[in-house]
Amino acid sequence: MNPILEQFADIRVLRYDVPGFDKLSLNEKMLVYYLAQAAEAGRDIIWDQNYKFNLMVRDVVEKIIIGMKADGEVDEGLMTYAKRIWVANGIHHHYSNDKFKADFTKEQFLGWYDKYIILPVTKTMDEEMGKIFEESQESMRALYCDIFFDPNFDAKKVSLADGVDLVYASSVNFYGDRVSQQEVERYYSDVKGKHPLNSKLIKNGTELVEEVWDQNGMYGMQIRAIIKNLEKAMAYALTDKQKKTIELLISYYRDGNPDTFDEMNKVWVSDKDLKIDFINGFIEVYSDPLGLKATWESVVEIRDEEKTKHVATIAENAQWFEDRSPVASEYKKRDVKGVSMNIVNVAMLGGDCYPTTPIGINLPNADWIREQYGSKSVALANIEGAYHEASQSSGVLDEFAYSLEESENARKYGSEADDLHTQLHECLGHGSGQMKEGVTLDALKAYGSTIEETRADLYALYFMADDKIVELGLLPNKEAAWSHYDSYMRSGLLVQLSRLELGTNIEESHMRNRHLIAAWALEHCGGAAEMVVREGKHYVTIKDYEKMREVFGQLLREIQRIKSEGDFEAARDIVETYGVKVDLELHKEIKMRYDALGVAPFSCFVNPRYKLVLGGGGEPKDVELVEESDFAAQMLAYREK
Ligand code: ZN
Repeated sequence: MNPILEQFADIRVLRYDVPGFDKLSLNEKMLVYYLAQAAEAGRDIIWDQNYKFNLMVRDVVEKIIIGMKADGEVDEGLMTYAKRIWVANGIHHHYSNDKFKADFTKEQFLGWYDKYIILPVTKTMDEEMGKIFEESQESMRALYCDIFFDPNFDAKKVSLADGVDLVYASSVNFYGDRVSQQEVERYYSDVKGKHPLNSKLIKNGTELVEEVWDQNGMYGMQIRAIIKNLEKAMAYALTDKQKKTIELLISYYRDGNPDTFDEMNKVWVSDKDLKIDFINGFIEVYSDPLGLKATWESVVEIRDEEKTKHVATIAENAQWFEDRSPVASEYKKRDVKGVSMNIVNVAMLGGDCYPTTPIGINLPNADWIREQYGSKSVALANIEGAYHEASQSSGVLDEFAYSLEESENARKYGSEADDLHTQLHECLGHGSGQMKEGVTLDALKAYGSTIEETRADLYALYFMADDKIVELGLLPNKEAAWSHYDSYMRSGLLVQLSRLELGTNIEESHMRNRHLIAAWALEHCGGAAEMVVREGKHYVTIKDYEKMREVFGQLLREIQRIKSEGDFEAARDIVETYGVKVDLELHKEIKMRYDALGVAPFSCFVNPRYKLVLGGGGEPKDVELVEESDFAAQMLAYREK
């Protein structure tokens, strides 16, 4: 199946299939159905979290599109803009964090606005009312024009720039108007480092107060819809623990008590042997420049039994790896608990995981739960499969590989080695290591996410080339690991720059971590890897793979030290030196080479749809999976819902 549906701007839209769904029992299908409904129900939350005017913008853009459709033809520029904001869940690019430039002019917009927004409303009003309404619309028009056409107005979704107030400089909606970074930091240091993930900190007069995200608070409407579907899902839970998990999650959504979320996670993480599992909640803090507030997300997944057996081996050997990790012995985990790894196929993506999605997830995030109860890891096989399928024909590999041998090896081992990297990163990397007594996780502030991803990637890189991996049958030979080293350096130093606007710094934490590792290793490997120029084009080539492995080990040791000790200065130095800046000339060259291939550098996904089939007496008879193939249609259908 060709997974590529369409391409626009810098995005390719892919679809994923859901292997195994047809073989589920009716009970299991019903569980997937209601969990999927719950995943869809929170969609508007992430839009609002990303920026307080996002929902307003989406509404106006969609209304104009619907109006144009009724008139016959949708303006192409507006459609492209709509697709871009649908991909990003808002007006800022999901990767660069920069505000999109409107693909239409101010004159066009004002004309559409009067025709499709004002006119339909004023038609139903009497003359007097219409006049008052029309006048009040002036400020709305002005606001929309600022959002669409003023490049300096709320220009950044998340700013991690050094030396500015990160809260003021970021457009995300976790802190109210006039709340400064210093005030937030002081507020949460007063309450002993405890900071609920599920609230917005606002100013009431001069006092700071939290607006909690629960059924009666902010996002109440969406949360009540999530609860309604979770209640229905509970009836089809596969185990008592899963039932308890859903029950606790509902209770958390009712009163917003963060402790209940922790309770839920304890039960969830102990319920490891599940054919159908899910995440749903305020979970990741990557979008908060201060790393305190979490975006809403959901994934529903069906376990791939065969692939899961294959990697159970990794979990069984977790302690073996930890004992041999190159980090300082005081920062190793003595007793690695409950590291489990499921290979799953996604059945539904929601919130911050849709339409762009991770390929692996390791949860819960709370370190104390991980240390005492372990964590659950999943790799999303059908998503990775779709990426791999789509990349086969792109030409990127041939353009950027140093030699024919390198690209041949990448073709031979790429898919398998990438899978293993994700598995090691999620299953061992994030769960490894130990904090020094008294050091809290947020000590690294804005650099925390990058350091954490760096740590997990290095763990994967280092152990991927261990003899044990071949011995355990996880890779066919050492060559596969070396091929992955080629690919990591190639991507970190060269290929990934294609995703970056010319002249900008690297902001996103996964991109930063890849650049950090590759650039640091290149500088410290004593010639084991080299950047070479051939016919005006840059390539990276590795001459001594064993040496590179050693270098990755050295860096892992230092990164673990930084995390364990909460060494903010060192974190800032290493990230700013190796993870942020890009050589402009090299960047230009990469963009040119990449653009010549005509491949959009980012991908997103459409979800399938599930249809409940009822019997004569109104009882559920089956759940049908309907494949979607039109991105815009899916988005407009979500609007209807
Ligand atoms: Zn990670």
